[in-house]
Amino acid sequence: MFQNVGVVGAGQMGSGIAQVFAAKGVPVVLVDAKDEFVARGRKTIEGSLARIVKKGALTQDDADKTLARVTGSTRYEDFAACDLVVEAITENEPVKRECFAQLDAVTGPTAILASNTSSISITTLGAVTKRPKLVIGMHFMNPVPVMQLVEVIRGQETSDETTAKVLSAVEFLGKTPAEARDFPGFVSNRVLMPMINEAVYCLMEGVAARDAIDTVMKLGMNHPMGPLALADLIGLDTCLSILNVLHDGFGDPKYRPCPLLKRMVAAGLLGRKSGRGFYDYSSGTPK
Ligand code: NAD
Repeated sequence: MFQNVGVVGAGQMGSGIAQVFAAKGVPVVLVDAKDEFVARGRKTIEGSLARIVKKGALTQDDADKTLARVTGSTRYEDFAACDLVVEAITENEPVKRECFAQLDAVTGPTAILASNTSSISITTLGAVTKRPKLVIGMHFMNPVPVMQLVEVIRGQETSDETTAKVLSAVEFLGKTPAEARDFPGFVSNRVLMPMINEAVYCLMEGVAARDAIDTVMKLGMNHPMGPLALADLIGLDTCLSILNVLHDGFGDPKYRPCPLLKRMVAAGLLGRKSGRGFYDYSSGTPK
C-alpha cells in the first residue's frame, strides 16, 4: 500500500479523498493554492468526522488522530516524499495539465499521479509528464467518505502495474472499483450529465417546476435525490465543465449544455458551495 499520499485541491472532493486515506492510517499532504483554501479543506474534514462521531461510528480520539494525519500546505514541493498524489483541482484541462507538469517535477520518479477528473482525458494529462505509465484516473464519488464507488480509468499508456496498485488501494479504502477506458466522461458522467442537463432543460422550458422535476426522479425512478439537487451537490460549474468536455469530445449536439445552466454559472450560482443554485442553502437547510 501507499505510504504517503498527496492530494492537490482541498475543495469538496480533495478534502474527502484526504479524509478517507487518513482514516485508514495513511499520512496525507493536502495542498491548495491559498492558505485559506487549505484551512477550509481541513474544516470540511473536521465537520465530516464530527458527523461520523455523532452517529457513533467513530470515537473522538480516532477522529482527532485522522485529522492529525492530514498536513496542509500551499507548496507542491511538499509532495516530494509521496508515492501517490491524487489531483482534485478545478475541472479545467489547461489548469490540470499545468498541475500534472508541476507534480511530475516535484515527485519521485516512481510516484503514481492520479486524477479525480470527472471527464478530462487521462491520456492528455499523462502526456504532459515523463511518466505516462504511472498516470491514471481515480474518480471518487461525492461525498467521498460515504460513496462506495471509485471509477478507475486507464489512459493510453497507463501500465498494468499502476492499474493493479490503484485497484488495490481502492479496496484498501473499503471501496469498490469499476474500470473504464479513457473516453470523455468515462461511464459515470457520460450517463449522468445528459440526465442532469435534460432536467435543467425541463426547468427552462417550463415542463415542470423544480420540485416536481426532482420528485419525478426520486419517487418515479427511485433515485436518492433529484437531478437538480444532485447538480447543486456536484457544483453547477463542474456540471457545465463536464458537459463541455462531452460536447467537444464527441462533437455530438446531444451533449450541448442547457443555456439556463450556463446562465446560472455566469451568475455565480454554483449550488451548495456558493450557497445557492437550484435551491437556496443560506439557512443551512435547502429551500
Ligand atoms: P471545488 O471547486 O470544490 O475544489 C477545487 C479546489 O481546487 C479549490 O479549493 C481550488 O482552490 C483548488 N485549486 C484550483 N486550482 C488549483 C491549483 N492549480 N493548485 C492547487 N489547488 C487548486 O471542486 P470539487 O467539486 O472538489 O472538484 C474537484 C475535481 O473533482 C474536479 O476535477 C471535479 O470534476 C472532480 N469531481 C467532482 C465531483 C463533485 O461531485 N463535485 C465528483 C467527482 C469528481
